[in-house]
Amino acid sequence: MSNKRDFYEILGVQKSATDVEIKSAYRKIALKYHPDRNKDNPEAETKFKEAAEAYAVLSDPNKRKTYDQFGHAGLGGAAGMGEGPGFASMEDILSAFGDIFSGFGGGGGFESIFGGGGGTRPRRGASLRVDLQIDLEDVLKGTQKTIEIARLDQCGTCGGSGAKPGTKAEPCNTCGGHGEISLNQGFFHVRQACPSCRGTGKTIPHPCATCRGAGKVRKRDPITLTIPPGIEEGHVERLPGKGETGENGGPPGDLVVVIHIKEHEIFHRRGSDLLIDLRIRYSQAALGGSAEVPTLEEGQTARVKIPKGTQPGEILRLRGQGLPRPDGRGKGNLLVRISILVPKKLTAKQEELLHELDKIEEKQGKKEQHKGLFSKIRDIF
Ligand SMILES: [Zn+2]
Ligand SMILES: [Zn+2]
Repeated sequence: MSNKRDFYEILGVQKSATDVEIKSAYRKIALKYHPDRNKDNPEAETKFKEAAEAYAVLSDPNKRKTYDQFGHAGLGGAAGMGEGPGFASMEDILSAFGDIFSGFGGGGGFESIFGGGGGTRPRRGASLRVDLQIDLEDVLKGTQKTIEIARLDQCGTCGGSGAKPGTKAEPCNTCGGHGEISLNQGFFHVRQACPSCRGTGKTIPHPCATCRGAGKVRKRDPITLTIPPGIEEGHVERLPGKGETGENGGPPGDLVVVIHIKEHEIFHRRGSDLLIDLRIRYSQAALGGSAEVPTLEEGQTARVKIPKGTQPGEILRLRGQGLPRPDGRGKGNLLVRISILVPKKLTAKQEELLHELDKIEEKQGKKEQHKGLFSKIRDIF
């Protein structure tokens, strides 16, 4: 993480650069290192990705602010998705920032500048993102979840051709099957997706009844996902090939599952530790003893030792009663945060005893400390 280059440096702009300057700097770099211009050039690919990452952050006012304040560490988060920068593939970058290249020779946009943008080229299917909520209890033991997603898949009836079985797609008359047409616009020799066949290069005289000629159908597929113990909020599971089907025989995209953990009523997560609040009586805190506390393990409790003179806000620790660490090295702790229960109603006997106690404490010159104790409790609630 820490050896990442500075985003401003990558784009070659000042920290004070305007949005327009950032966009234009990114456009220059992206054009120079675009994969269509740099076939089999890993260095160019790295530079292209690096610039896209930098642009993803610096073009977003919120992300830029976070980055300015905290640097790369501030963006952290899930690898390749959501908050954190980073793209899984070139296709992700192109689909994310395709619009930046518009205005270069019209219609065909970016791809038309370099050619090869025809619709007949095999293309990887789109990646799908699913957000999955799990319970905190699931983090303890790990779980299996079955998710059903509607994804575009190859039509089984026509095998993706879109033509009724026994018939064939024919080359489009307008573009001669190339899927694109050429136009001359100023300096640019522009290629545009063919309007007749929408870039597919084909016409289908007898469309398949199942997919109505699309070659693709939406399918609801149940997918079972195994979630290991100790998983963290925002964790990204990538299932290769489980996304949308590809174009023209291209590979399918990925399914990306982002895992979220529901807030628990009692247990608050602190990394692999769990925090709970425990109210004890003033006398318990002063005299010491022990108390029973729930654990995340269903139906199980643990006993926490309360040392003499425990203060409100103090955190007592039960080792190994937390969540499994993601690296598999043992478990975190259960943190018990102490607050003091003050009775709202008193019996005559209680009142009598408390008055007596109060007198003693006053005599000991502890009255101030006593008041301080109660004001602290107020802060907790
Ligand atoms: Zn079909
Ligand atoms: Zn055509």
